[in-house]
Amino acid sequence: MNNPVIFFVEEARATSIEYAAKLLGLKFSGSRYEHPQPCPHCGGTDTFAFNTAKNKWNCRAGGVGGNDGIGMVAHCEGLDLHRRAHFLEACAIVLGRPVPDQAEQESAEEHVRRLRRIEQRRRHNEKQAAAKSQLDFRERERQRARAIYEAAAPVGRYGRPVAEYLAARGCGQITSSHWLRYASGLVYWHGQDEGGRPVALHAGPAMIAPFMDRSLVAIGCHITWLDLACAPKFRPQLFDPASGELLPSKKMRGSKKGGLIPLSGDPSARRWVGGEGIENGAAFACWENWRPDTFYFAAGDLGNLAGPAAAGSRFAHPTLKKPDAKGVLRPVMVAGPVPRPDRDAEDAMWVGDHVEELVLLADADSERVMTAAAMARARARHARPGRAIPIVWPRPGCDFAAMAAQAARVA
Ligand SMILES: [Zn+2]
Repeated sequence: MNNPVIFFVEEARATSIEYAAKLLGLKFSGSRYEHPQPCPHCGGTDTFAFNTAKNKWNCRAGGVGGNDGIGMVAHCEGLDLHRRAHFLEACAIVLGRPVPDQAEQESAEEHVRRLRRIEQRRRHNEKQAAAKSQLDFRERERQRARAIYEAAAPVGRYGRPVAEYLAARGCGQITSSHWLRYASGLVYWHGQDEGGRPVALHAGPAMIAPFMDRSLVAIGCHITWLDLACAPKFRPQLFDPASGELLPSKKMRGSKKGGLIPLSGDPSARRWVGGEGIENGAAFACWENWRPDTFYFAAGDLGNLAGPAAAGSRFAHPTLKKPDAKGVLRPVMVAGPVPRPDRDAEDAMWVGDHVEELVLLADADSERVMTAAAMARARARHARPGRAIPIVWPRPGCDFAAMAAQAARVA
């Protein structure tokens, strides 16, 4: 072997793991010594790691590791160290310069092919790792939501405050729901402290409702913090400590889209009644005396009730205007009554195929035109042959809670 090659190899062997990692474009995670990440060769999420203090690397997926830059480069780039040409190629990568001329080398064509292969594999691994971490995040959120729901007590013996809250909101006496639950001291997390940990802003009684998918598995939960001393909404007033801004006293965890919140009754019923919110649905149910032949639900929000609109059905609001970037008043655009044609099952809440009457409740305190368009879209989306879908509006200037209270007075 010629001297230039011997020097070349010796120089490559002296390279640190840290230096080789930089040349390979590997990820450094903050100020720590240990740097876990997907293996550039094998994929996964945190299968691969190098340690700049111990000058070590290892890949759990490949079951290999060591303490030299050449070995790490060879694994990441898919080179076989037992082949001389590959070994010298790994040295060249570590040193950032080509193998001295005298040596036997990978042909130029081979080299280009291999680089292309590596690039393809790297892109594939990155995409898979990103998809998996997104899936992991969603599944973890779903599990947390399920845990909150499962830890809560059913309304009835222990969940009196939920029944009292609904009664105070004009929903009458809900005694039989086995869906709604009660937590006595649920923490309201908001913001982070200096160490990046979440801050407990409030802890108190809360109504917990599940978001159920078609197979009645909880995919998320809807939380309403309660304060029976705080009329007229009977929910605590929580403020952001930094901005002083009033915070919502309701939160959703896990997934909502495609699911629904059951309020009372059994989904096998042929008649379903519901709208956006829990209180509105419960108030209407109270007004019609919680019919035993009916399943009452809430969609959580208008988007989940109606699904997305077809782009072409957007229209200008007849009266509402807002200034554009140049300060010119333009009509507010409203999502139209036609559902988007390429609909996905998770775009909106599910409705049982057996449902013959789907009563949709409109919200009185939302903007009228936008609500009307969304209700029409919901009707179009959930339409089936043989299914009636009446849309019910509360009397003008009224909501279902006020109507229920009035009906109770008359009775
Ligand atoms: Zn590997």
